[in-house]
Amino acid sequence: MSQATQRHDDTDEETLIEVRNLEKYYGDDGMFSPPPVKAVDGVDLDIKRGETFGLVGESGSGKSTLGRTLLRLEQATSGTVSFDGTDITTLEGSDLKRWRRNAQIVFQDPESSLNDRMTVGEIVREPLDAHDKGTERERRKRVMDLLSRVGLREEHYYRYPHQFSGGQRQRVGIARALALEPEFVVLDEPVSALDVSVQAKIITLLEDLQEEFDLTYLFIAHDLSVVRHICDRVAVMYLGKIMEVGETEELYEDPVNPYTKSLLSAIPRPDPTDESERTTLPGTPPSPRDPPQGCQFSTRCPAKIRPEGFEEVSEETWDAIERFREIVRERTRVELGTVDRVKRRAGLFSKYDDIDEAVKDLFDGVERPPVVDDHLTYAVEQVKAGHPQDARERLHEAFGSVCDRERPAHHQVGDRGRESYCHRHREEYDDVESAIRR
Ligand code: ADP
Ligand code: MG
Repeated sequence: MSQATQRHDDTDEETLIEVRNLEKYYGDDGMFSPPPVKAVDGVDLDIKRGETFGLVGESGSGKSTLGRTLLRLEQATSGTVSFDGTDITTLEGSDLKRWRRNAQIVFQDPESSLNDRMTVGEIVREPLDAHDKGTERERRKRVMDLLSRVGLREEHYYRYPHQFSGGQRQRVGIARALALEPEFVVLDEPVSALDVSVQAKIITLLEDLQEEFDLTYLFIAHDLSVVRHICDRVAVMYLGKIMEVGETEELYEDPVNPYTKSLLSAIPRPDPTDESERTTLPGTPPSPRDPPQGCQFSTRCPAKIRPEGFEEVSEETWDAIERFREIVRERTRVELGTVDRVKRRAGLFSKYDDIDEAVKDLFDGVERPPVVDDHLTYAVEQVKAGHPQDARERLHEAFGSVCDRERPAHHQVGDRGRESYCHRHREEYDDVESAIRR
């Protein structure tokens, strides 16, 4: 937001939160269990005091998990989160409790995040009670002040959440988050569940409160346009990884990472026939239990680097190969977990249960030169023989490039703290523009 930008441009650029190599894995509990879900998979971030830092990405990319891990609502698997110089991932007991006042969260869904058996007054007061702040009387007074500060009235104290509209409920959630005078607030899709007209009012409220109380925000959203309006800087997340980070306007005007480009070009235009406002990219993200070995985005990337030796292969053929590889990957994932097995049984997994049919469909009218055909034939045989893993490995060896094999580095782009996670920034591969295909 402009005022905030000015404020910290003029004065300090001090880092409030420093995240280093943060990982949060779920279900990492034994040699014989399926591989863990890598919800946050090695994240580095700096959040500056007083700024609004945006975090965007498709559903399931790990945004909420990252936000919750920064607040110690989840225990990090590894890595550090320094808050004002203190690593909070190892705090315990009274130190942890004291620190918790500093860092609060507002949830997406004001419907389910407020306890419907408590009055609004009790809900907002609860953190004050839990931390023994002031006398009875002072707490009541503080709650009344907070209610009016977020645009509610004193008589709302005795009402119940279900008597309120979505926007009002979110005001209650905000008042509660501010009760203990935190420095840092995670806003986890705070307006995603609200009508557009209400969204604007809540955003304005959040901006005013930030100004008044010197708050630092982590603003999580899947709606890229909301973020553009409110955030000073933005990080784009995919499969547990930050793909690109930079100042908001710069990143929106001139995205350098293929994932950011894809996401921005998929911003939904108002379309009366489209019920969902979801941002959709071609293909689906791989399971975070089985992320690609190289770049996380490699299975969907429109700028993926081709290996040497296939320069003569047409775009159509190459596209079909990549899609065939995705299908084979899905086949190997089937063994991974119960959820996947259920999905498969329900027919949600892949429409290509018959591998011959898949090949026929994908390569219909598409050239299959000999350099390609031998590998395809082998892979199909292996899948049929019940060895999809062998097929996957052969395809990886034959058609894999640096994008399939190596994790990219975070490359500095320009001189304003922009970073992008992509092999294309290496000198030998740096012409992303010409490579965007789909
Ligand atoms: P986002 O907020 O970007 O939609 P989440 O952080 O909610 O993403 O989820 C990231 C990944 O972690 C998803 O694959 C999700 O299914 C998984 N996940 C989230 N919470 C849990 C949990 N408590 N147990 C197991 N997996 C989880
Ligand atoms: Mg979420």
